[in-house]
Amino acid sequence: MTVLLLGGTAEARQLAAELVAAGCPLISSLAGRVRDPALPVGRVRIGGFGGTDGLVDFLAAAPIEAVVDATHPFAATMSRHAAEACRRSGTPLIRLARPGWSAHPLASTWTWVPDLAAAASTAAWSRRPLLTTGRQSLPAFAGWHDRDVCVRLVDPPSDLLPARWRIVVARGPYTLAGERELIRSHQADLLLTKDSGGAFTAAKLTAAGALGVPVVVVARPPSVPGVRSVDDVGAARDWALERCGTIGA
Ligand code: NAP
Repeated sequence: MTVLLLGGTAEARQLAAELVAAGCPLISSLAGRVRDPALPVGRVRIGGFGGTDGLVDFLAAAPIEAVVDATHPFAATMSRHAAEACRRSGTPLIRLARPGWSAHPLASTWTWVPDLAAAASTAAWSRRPLLTTGRQSLPAFAGWHDRDVCVRLVDPPSDLLPARWRIVVARGPYTLAGERELIRSHQADLLLTKDSGGAFTAAKLTAAGALGVPVVVVARPPSVPGVRSVDDVGAARDWALERCGTIGA
């Protein structure tokens, strides 16, 4: 009678609130990466499942009748594991991924790259980049110890970063005024980011455009073939409620 909601995003928290309010039995799952995470309402479990096999076991033990994968668009491993575990166990699965920024009015002015390695080589000219690609991306820029990088992270870094780097610890949503000030105060000559999409972290794109700062955007990893995907919370909610209704009938 229970839906598993793979979370770690604002959309997952919104969906959890709507499903709990509608009386849909639900377990939200978080990876446990972030210190002091914003918790969704309802039941929550935290930590990895132990790969695809562990997730298959979890689905059977709970038991889980349907899965909503509302993880971040760049959480490709979790999405792959969810697809494989649901296929093996015959559990219905839907992917909820917010729209990317390809339709942003400034998108055609940005340099799009396929991955972090391409981002690092495309941005090799930059001396004062503002880096907002997340903690796990930092190894791709390890060679940048000789430049004045400003890196924004949700939590303080666990590894030592180059002495010249400026670390800004902050959590969205970010304002346009704040983003302008960050770019201006760092005298950033480049914004390097990834196509997370959504409104929470989009102000930096407008700020960079207004200040004439070039932008490099890492494109999303490909979606898992064969998995139905929706980009708004309402569609995922209706799908899950249908399963709750069917299950509960
Ligand atoms: P990932 O690389 O796709 O996943 C790595 C492993 O983390 C998975 O194999 C799984 O471990 C565990 N995991 C990931 N999401 C989980 C979840 N919701 N519940 C339980 N275990 C989970 O994931 P990631 O990119 O590190 O992201 C981790 C979490 O942070 C996700 O919940 C995601 O929504 C959130 N997040 C990610 C980003 C980003 O840029 N990647 C940004 C904002 C938020 P096992 O194999 O042991 O099951």
